Amino acid sequence: MTQVAERLREIEARLEAACRRAGRARQEISLVAVTKTVPVERIQEAIDAGVRLLGENRVQEAASKFASLRGDFARHMVGHLQRNKVKKAVSVFDMIQSVDSLELAGEIDKRAAEIGKVMPVLVEVNTSGEATKFGSTSEECVDLVAEIGHLKHISVQGLMTIGALTGDQAVVRGCFRRLRDLRGRIQDARIENVLMDYLSMGMTSDFEIAVEEGSNMVRIGTAVFGPRHDPPAA
Ligand SMILES: *Cc1c(COP(=O)(O)O)cnc(C)c1O
Repeated sequence: MTQVAERLREIEARLEAACRRAGRARQEISLVAVTKTVPVERIQEAIDAGVRLLGENRVQEAASKFASLRGDFARHMVGHLQRNKVKKAVSVFDMIQSVDSLELAGEIDKRAAEIGKVMPVLVEVNTSGEATKFGSTSEECVDLVAEIGHLKHISVQGLMTIGALTGDQAVVRGCFRRLRDLRGRIQDARIENVLMDYLSMGMTSDFEIAVEEGSNMVRIGTAVFGPRHDPPAA
């Protein structure tokens, strides 16, 4: 068994334990393997071990890696998306998880229309209030979702957040609760053309808390592939 396959088995055990604690079924939760900076050979090991969902942060890096991978997998953009990369992102990805402004959504809508696609997206929320994080504020999120709902070539399918970067579990848990509450408010508002199927929350350091708080999509990099040596931001 490859090291990646072994790590995936450990994550499975931890996911199952978190599901048991929360009274949930493991099948409710999708695992996105986050592959930024990871070489193609190791990503292939993850696919060969059963991973069916890959997340990337950079459009160009994703496009060239995806082209050299074998097998059946869905492609999610999880990183901040610049406007000038939207055209390519719309053709490369099956879902964009990081939509945090109407301007970005408008550009996605325009580029998706050009290629006759309806782009599935999640709206990213900054639940921690950390200034370094992208995402709409919790206050503006409901209105933003409603406005994006008007766009014909976008399908809003849920919310995404990155938990606070702290060892304080109560603070992290608070972020995930905030996202779950927001989903409830948006569901209650019954906005046309808006689904709230996905709550994408939980990474290597906090995915068990996220599962306990209702996440159904965890995005895990380090625990699958080992520590990253991130290149400086482009
Ligand atoms: C890198 C990244 C992840 C995975 O982070 P790990 O801590 O390595 O699991 C998840 N989500 C986003 C948006 C990321 O950029």
